[in-house]
Parts: sequence; structure tokens; C-alpha cells
Amino acid sequence: MDPLKALADAERKPYWLDSPARPEPQPRLDRNTSADLVVVGGGFSGLWTALMAKERDPSLDVVLLEGRRIGWAATGRNGGFCMATLTHGLANGLERWPEEIDRLERMGVANVDEIERTLERYGVDCSFERTGELHVATEPWQLDGLNEHLDLISELGLDYVPLDREQVRAEVNSPTYLGGLWERSGCAMLDPARLAWGLREACLRLGVRVHERSPVRSLHDDGTTITLRTPYGSAAARRVALGTGVFPPLLRRLKHFVVPVYDYALMTEPLTGPQLAAVGWGNRQGVGDSGNRFHYYRLTDDNRILWGGYDAVYYNGGLVKPEYDQRDETFVKLAGHFYDTFPQLSQVRFTHRWGGVIDTCSRFSAFYGQAHGGRLAYAAGYTGMGVGATRFGANVMLDLLSGERTERTELRMVKEKPLPFPPEPVRSGVIQFTRWSIAQADEHQGKRNLWLRTLDRMGLGFDS
Ligand SMILES: Cc1cc2nc3c(=O)[nH]c(=O)nc-3n(C[C@H](O)[C@H](O)[C@H](O)COP(=O)(O)OP(=O)(O)OC[C@H]3O[C@@H](n4cnc5c(N)ncnc54)[C@H](O)[C@@H]3O)c2cc1C
Repeated sequence: MDPLKALADAERKPYWLDSPARPEPQPRLDRNTSADLVVVGGGFSGLWTALMAKERDPSLDVVLLEGRRIGWAATGRNGGFCMATLTHGLANGLERWPEEIDRLERMGVANVDEIERTLERYGVDCSFERTGELHVATEPWQLDGLNEHLDLISELGLDYVPLDREQVRAEVNSPTYLGGLWERSGCAMLDPARLAWGLREACLRLGVRVHERSPVRSLHDDGTTITLRTPYGSAAARRVALGTGVFPPLLRRLKHFVVPVYDYALMTEPLTGPQLAAVGWGNRQGVGDSGNRFHYYRLTDDNRILWGGYDAVYYNGGLVKPEYDQRDETFVKLAGHFYDTFPQLSQVRFTHRWGGVIDTCSRFSAFYGQAHGGRLAYAAGYTGMGVGATRFGANVMLDLLSGERTERTELRMVKEKPLPFPPEPVRSGVIQFTRWSIAQADEHQGKRNLWLRTLDRMGLGFDS
């Protein structure tokens, strides 16, 4: 079908948030209050922090302040791939922290195990399906990348299955596939908005005071207590955790380390039985292809296909704006790629199109830290892979605030910071040139130009 026609009736809003299950917002903060811990941000990062703070110590008085609605930002707009990796993939982790990789992989799988147990404990229904992720190659040069770390993978005891062309097409039937690797160890598919709302419900049940539509405008530290001011009230506490993602940070230093990158997705109508049979997909894995600019796609519980990725857009100036949530040029491109991948679905139309903003940092995996004499902790920079990893980051923040040394706080990954991005306007120039170079590499069998090779040597890059 012509992509324009297929998109003609698609709603311009995130599919997951467009649901009757979306709860009414909790009341604004409308007075001055105090607590033991204030968490800022009602995405996965803040929700996990508040929930686990109460699980660690039920007597703790915890307030969560969200500027808009719980889960409205990246948390409610993503692909719903809940991955075990804490390092934006094995290759990135291996490159940066080779001596820690076995521990990082083990902790990542344990993190997803614990997410699954939390869902059972609180009865959160977010269509959690532990299907794994199928990495597919669609160009010959991508096959080498898929098979690169197979020895290490088996040494680490990870459950990955290499698939040849026929085997991968037997899993998911696309004429574009040349081979694949099925990562079965950790990854689960889920409905991210229902996870966020379920975590909100669990927080409320444990007594967290949740305030939505309560943006924190300023932070004041008197040396013992930090006071966070919102338009209609304030919250003061000895401990503060920031899970504010890519939004203008309350801690100025964070603005050097994260940049907003827009990622876009489409949702199809539910497939009919014969349409689904034409694709196979009996094991319902999440799928990611292996170019530098990659697509990610998956089935929902009612057999729609979410299809996203490829263009990772940085808008010059680095602002976050509602109008950037829609990008027709990208939607048309994505729809075209969908039909190239699944020609047997040429009659399927799209019901939703949306974008969201990712907190990209130069090492692609989250960084952590403290400020205000250890009274404030932060975690940011998940770079498009925070559905699972934010729970780990929340645990790191709570460890740091408690002053305890734990296996987590002793990791080099936790102690080290990424390299900062240069200030604007140089930042825009560097990022756009890097994006162009990445596109060139995809056009030329993955060959990286001098600029990308230089960034690689410095451990720097741009990703989503
Ligand atoms: C299109 C898209 C697809 C993605 N796909 C995947 C995927 O499949 N798998 C994966 O692992 N990751 C994916 N991601 C990334 C993932 O969604 C994020 O890493 C994760 O949701 C980050 O959660 P967070 O809580 O840190 O940030 P956010 O969800 O951005 O939440 C931050 C919250 O803080 C609030 N806030 C900020 N400042 C203030 C303030 N001053 N006062 C009060 N509140 C404030 C904001 O309103 C917001 O609600 C995707 C992201 C996008 C955009």
C-alpha cells in the first residue's frame, strides 16, 4: 500500500497512552510539605526509585513529584523492549568495561527477573512476555557483527541462539533476512504505559505520596534540607532522587552529558489470523535489525505490529518541543520500510504515529552520581534502552543516598562519567556530521569513515 494512504487515518498520539486504562492524575502539590525522600520524575526512573525506597524501608515518607502525567514522556512512548542489558548492548559494555562485563550481564538478567517478580507481587498486568529479542541481519556486512561475540556469549553462559537464513525466516518470515541471533536470556516485551500505571498503583498502595502536574521549578539547599518548589507548593527532604530524563535539569551539570534525540514509531491495526500466519512469529520475539540506523519491531497482545526507529533526530539547538513529536518525513519512510520487510502485509494500515525524546549520552548507557553533599542522587543517559535499566539505576540512586557500598556502587560503570558534549552551536554541528557519517556507513557496507573511527577510538558516539 502507498505509505501516505496507509498513514492517512493514523492518530497522531502514542498508542500506549491512548488507552481507557490511563488513570486519572493524582492531585497537584498544593501546599508546603516535608518528607524523608523526594523523587522528581514520574517515568520509570522515578517510579522504580519511589517504589523500591518503600520496599527497602516501609517507614520512609516518600513524595514523588511529576511535572505532567505519570509515564507521559519516553516511558509511555517506547517500544516496550525490556532488555537485560545495562550497557546498551553487550558490544558497548565489552568495549568500555571488559573486566566487569560478566558481572554487568549477570546483574542485567537478575534485574529483569526482579521486574518480573515485582509484577507478580503487585499484580501488574502489562502484557509481560519473556520472548527474547531476535537480532536480524539484512545486509551481508551485518552478519559479521552478529557473530562477533559468540565465544564470549557462551563463556558468559548467556542463552543466545545463532540462526541461519532459513532458520531466522522460520521464526519471522521476511525476505530481507540473511541471518539472525536470538537472544533468549533476558529481554521481555511489555506494554510500557500499563507498566508505569501499575508501578504508580503499587507506589500508592505502599503509601508514596504521588503528585502529578507538579513541575519542580527550583531546588534550594540550606545545607541539611533540600527544598523543591513547584508552582503551588514545595516539598523539603534530606534526600532527593532525580529521575528527570532529558528534561531541563535541576542540576546544571547534567546538561553537559545528555542531549535530546527524537525517535519515532508507528502502530498497525491488529493483524488478521491469515496475515499473522503469513509472517509466522510464533515465538513473538522483539526484533531489531542490525544497521547503524536500526528498526525495532514487535507484536502487541492483540497482534498489532509496533514498528519504530531508524531516524534518530537531533534538532539543532537541542530543545525539547511538543511539535517535534510528529515528523511526517520519518513516518512515511518507516511505513515504506515496513512494507519492504513484510510485503505479505501490504494491505495492513497504521492506526497510530508518534515520537518521543531519548536522553542520549556519549557512552550510550546511563550514568549515576551525587551532588549537594551526597543528599541528592541522579541517574540519566539511558540512550533508548531504559525500560529495564531504569530499575537498576533506581537501585543505584538508593544505594548512593544510603551511603552504603554495594556491588552496584563499586562498579566502574557507576563510578565513571561519560565525556561531555561540546556546547552549542558546536554540539549541533558535531552531532549532525556524525549522523551523516553513520548514514554513509550504512550505505557503504558498514565501512566507517575517518570521523567515526576517531570517535570510536575516543569511546564517543551518537546512538538511540
Ligand atoms: C520512541 C521511543 C522508543 C523507545 N524504545 C525503547 C525500548 O523499546 N526499550 C527500552 O529499553 N527503551 C526504549 N526507549 C527509552 C525508554 O523509554 C527510556 O529510557 C525510559 O523510559 C526512561 O525513563 P525515565 O523515567 O528516565 O525518563 P522519562 O520517561 O522521560 O521520565 C522523566 C519524567 O520526569 C519528569 N520531569 C522532568 N523534569 C521535571 C521537573 N523539573 N519536575 C517534575 N517532573 C519532571 C518528566 O515530566 C517525565 O515524566 C524508547 C524511547 C523512545 C522515545
